[in-house]
Amino acid sequence: MKDEALVSRLRSQLLDWYDAHGRDLPWREKGVRRGGSDPYRVWLSEVMLQQTTVAHAAPYYDKFLRLWPTVGDLAAAEDGCVMAEWAGLGYYARARRLLACARVVARDFGGVFPADEAGLLALPGFGPYTAAAVAAIAFGQAANVIDGNIERVMTRLYAIETPLPAGRMAVREAAAQWVSNERAGDWPQALMDLAAGLCRPKAPLCLLCPLQEGCDAFRRGDAERFPVKVARTAKPRRHGVAFLITSGDGFIAERRPDNGLLGGMLGLPHAEWRAEPWRDGDIMPPVDGPFEDLGSYEHVFTHFALSQSVWRYRVADSDIQALLRLHNSWRFVPLADQAALPTVFRKAFALKP
Ligand code: SF4
Repeated sequence: MKDEALVSRLRSQLLDWYDAHGRDLPWREKGVRRGGSDPYRVWLSEVMLQQTTVAHAAPYYDKFLRLWPTVGDLAAAEDGCVMAEWAGLGYYARARRLLACARVVARDFGGVFPADEAGLLALPGFGPYTAAAVAAIAFGQAANVIDGNIERVMTRLYAIETPLPAGRMAVREAAAQWVSNERAGDWPQALMDLAAGLCRPKAPLCLLCPLQEGCDAFRRGDAERFPVKVARTAKPRRHGVAFLITSGDGFIAERRPDNGLLGGMLGLPHAEWRAEPWRDGDIMPPVDGPFEDLGSYEHVFTHFALSQSVWRYRVADSDIQALLRLHNSWRFVPLADQAALPTVFRKAFALKP
């Protein structure tokens, strides 16, 4: 933890910087950054900004306020109308939660938002971040507001080495040191503006930063390393052999079992995708007769990487019906339809003999 006098001095410096350089956003009174704001407006902006940039959300915010200036107006709106106006913002679950919350506030609270963090947290769609942000920005309460941007600033200020999410408790403790009743609503907004303007993910502008004196990462000269990323572990590798059985202008495709990877889709018949590489003698040939080894390709699934060899069999038209009778899950498909296969199988067609 940092010295209290240092925190107090740097806090004032950042608020001064915010007064001079903070962003003019539609949900802030232009040029006025002190004092509380309408909780409806703060909440609306926070919901719209989830997974959305400021530039993209701003016109929607203006439009919603024109159409529904109060939470009571929004609560009385038709679902279909609200969803239609939300179109283009994405993540439609947010719009549904917005309406559900507006109706609870209108029905159970007479159109007045609860004025404390715990009361806000009980509303539909309010998580810890939104409740803290509305409590601080709208009601001027000393709430510990932490979003991804504030996390970045805190991991740098304290050079927190534990990667996120495991390091979140340390971030919360660090951020709490700066929470105060003094300009409680301006503080998280000042931190967010610092994160957007100076403490950027790449190439932070530390020389302009009002917190520089107390920043451990700046002192160490490796600010950009924070927040520390979890080292990616190599994906496990599996090995397979796909059988490309062709006749004339068609090939055999297999309908995969409904359960499991690529369930219910068409693929090529193949040997099991297993951890050890296949040796030729281990493989049960699906068709009698000679084959061409077309080589192999790589494909990466979410949970493993696959090295797949491809064996090509050319069979006579007259043998195809016999093969289809033997294998219920097999189909004879025109070569032109190979585009319908998942990528992991389409790659087999790119190999040349
Ligand atoms: Fe971020 Fe640099 Fe300021 Fe530290 S000194 S808070 S790393 S901008």
